[in-house]
Amino acid sequence: MLSNEDRRLIRELRQAGVLKDIENHLLDQRSGTVLVTCADADRFPDIFHHQEKMQSEQRTSSRIHTLSWHGGAIACAPCSPVNKVKSADRVFFGQIIDARCEVKTDIPAIALYAHAPCGAAALHHIDLVTVIGLQMRVKQKVKSRLRDYPAAIAPFFHVDYGTSQRTYFLCRTKWEAWADDHGIKIVC
Ligand SMILES: [Zn+2]
Repeated sequence: MLSNEDRRLIRELRQAGVLKDIENHLLDQRSGTVLVTCADADRFPDIFHHQEKMQSEQRTSSRIHTLSWHGGAIACAPCSPVNKVKSADRVFFGQIIDARCEVKTDIPAIALYAHAPCGAAALHHIDLVTVIGLQMRVKQKVKSRLRDYPAAIAPFFHVDYGTSQRTYFLCRTKWEAWADDHGIKIVC
């Protein structure tokens, strides 16, 4: 369950424009989407369904290439604290790169999800700010690794409020400004 502190923080991040309401047209998903997400059984259906809904304005049928494991995007950060085997991030990260470069899915849109509350993050005592910091670090890393393979890399954040579930877009520039203002540095 989302803690009161996390609810307050999510409200603050929404007010600061870090977490934005989704505008479907901003991510070109005409060829489909590589979806990187936590495997969470209670939230995955909403995440997947939302992605399908986003695509429905751009395609007649959904095309979602799903890469799913505990923690989703944050498991791909270097030495991510959600992985028991510290180098496992390379395996997960490699799956994303392969989806674009090797498997030839021909899908230049990558949706990187993290979420709250996340069992994997809780198990390893990773707070919400660190989750987002790790997620943004992964976005940068994927972008830099794929510089020769044009791809749109969009970070999304899913929240289960208990009575409803919502998906937000994570704005990198607003996040950096917010993190800077709060003296937050995620090193990984
Ligand atoms: Zn999770």
